Amino acid sequence: MRIIDAHVHLYPDEANSDPVAWGTTNLETHWVQLCTRRRKDGRPVQAFPSVEGLIRAMDEAGVERTVLQGWYWQFPENCAWQNRFYARCVKEHPDRLSAFATLHPGAGRGQTLALVRSAREQGFCGLGELSPHSQGFDVADPVFQSAMELAGELHLPVNLHVTEPQGRPYPGRVDTPLRDFLWLARTFRGTNFILAHWGGCLPLRDEEAVEAMNLFFDSAASPLLYGPDIWRRFFAVVPPERVLFGSDFPLDLYPGSEGEPGIAGLVREAREQGVDLEALAATTVRLLHL
Ligand SMILES: [Zn+2]
Repeated sequence: MRIIDAHVHLYPDEANSDPVAWGTTNLETHWVQLCTRRRKDGRPVQAFPSVEGLIRAMDEAGVERTVLQGWYWQFPENCAWQNRFYARCVKEHPDRLSAFATLHPGAGRGQTLALVRSAREQGFCGLGELSPHSQGFDVADPVFQSAMELAGELHLPVNLHVTEPQGRPYPGRVDTPLRDFLWLARTFRGTNFILAHWGGCLPLRDEEAVEAMNLFFDSAASPLLYGPDIWRRFFAVVPPERVLFGSDFPLDLYPGSEGEPGIAGLVREAREQGVDLEALAATTVRLLHL
């Protein structure tokens, strides 16, 4: 059976070897706060694996391909840095990896639109994971709007980080008002948006999110946010043609269990809930033009 994980994150060695030092030097305070957290028992919330570590996790989980998601950096230079790294990863493993390019409109209109065009030319298959609310710009920012328009023209779907309004607080959590995502979907009808983390369950509380055919959803970080019943609750409202399987590797999705963060646990959970992962892979292939 074909499984595609549409939401994983990797970082270059210089960040992996000392995340706090790298993040501090490069002024990515929000990332440092989120990614270097430890749980009460002292275990880190996530690992910093190499590309080989990701491939191993894919093999263990029976995942054929993963889609690398960029981080929602606060500075354009760091977006460009990660995009260069992802281009190298995909070049080394074209049969296993695809990637989204990340951006920050603070780079200005010319550079931002050039980044989107070059992402298309270099074979990136989308933009993201972006988070206007965490990156410090308004969804109505004019440069961001031009980028969203161009993404639609170039058939690059956009992955957006979404938090659940009623979700539990954690250090570094930034509220992402759900009306902003509906506004984006309505304003840029030619652009497809993937709302990460089940879109904060937006479709379960607002029919408009189901009716907006350019809104898609992924399951990234699901076990940290919801119980296994989320799969059935979500699919009761949203068809599989609008849902992508995503893990948010290398987050430790099952902190209670021993061992390294992996993807296999979430594959197992989805299967136990009767999810047709092949159908979700087909959605991903269609939407990302893989
Ligand atoms: Zn996210």
